[in-house]
Amino acid sequence: MGEAVKIQAIVLKKVDYKDADRVLTLFSPQVGKIIVSAKGIKKQNSKLRASSEVFAFGTFVLNETRGRYTVTGYDSIDSFHELREDFDRLSLGALLLNVCEKAIAPNEPDLELFNLLLNCLDYLRNGNVEAGFTAAVFLFKFCELFGYKPEMNECAQCAKEQDLIYLSASLGGVACVNCNNNDHVAITGGCLYYMRKIYSLPIKEIFLIKPTQTQVKELYRTACYYTAYFFDEKIKIMDYITKYGLI
Ligand SMILES: [Zn+2]
Repeated sequence: MGEAVKIQAIVLKKVDYKDADRVLTLFSPQVGKIIVSAKGIKKQNSKLRASSEVFAFGTFVLNETRGRYTVTGYDSIDSFHELREDFDRLSLGALLLNVCEKAIAPNEPDLELFNLLLNCLDYLRNGNVEAGFTAAVFLFKFCELFGYKPEMNECAQCAKEQDLIYLSASLGGVACVNCNNNDHVAITGGCLYYMRKIYSLPIKEIFLIKPTQTQVKELYRTACYYTAYFFDEKIKIMDYITKYGLI
């Protein structure tokens, strides 16, 4: 027998193998990303069934044998089942998990990112906040945690503080009317206003803001463009925009 390890984690991804088994990708604030086997999980009487779905968040007991982990116990904290009742919210929740799954490294604990993910999933299932806004907030904050916070106060090319009408991922921030390079999206003053709010306010206060539906769409599209530039090879982020019907 190997050694038992107890961790708190959320399931980012599941892959079926054999008749009844699954490989799960977990994200734990204590150990970062970790791949585990869940055996016999699809059998009707398996006590661990609840642990093998995406969004399952709880305490996992893992058995470690020669560097491989197997789930032997699970105590559920939350399943985020409400997300399954709304296609848009489920799609965007899947996007958040997918972004984390591709970008997080094994053995790199990240409590801040973990809390951001749980907070945003919680807001996502809550009908009071526009789903696209929640996803945009997550993506912008996600970029910041990986060191890609955009410059928002002056043109990232010429330092001019007026006429900031573009966001350029390759420049790493906003650009003025004279500095449009080939890699940018046009942004309205409203979009820039809300981006500054997202980066300056605590998360609870961000979600008290109520942008209009048009502004939500622009923020979401802009956040996807910006995130895709840094993580594009790893995340098929544009698929989610199409699914969400925003372009
Ligand atoms: Zn400029």
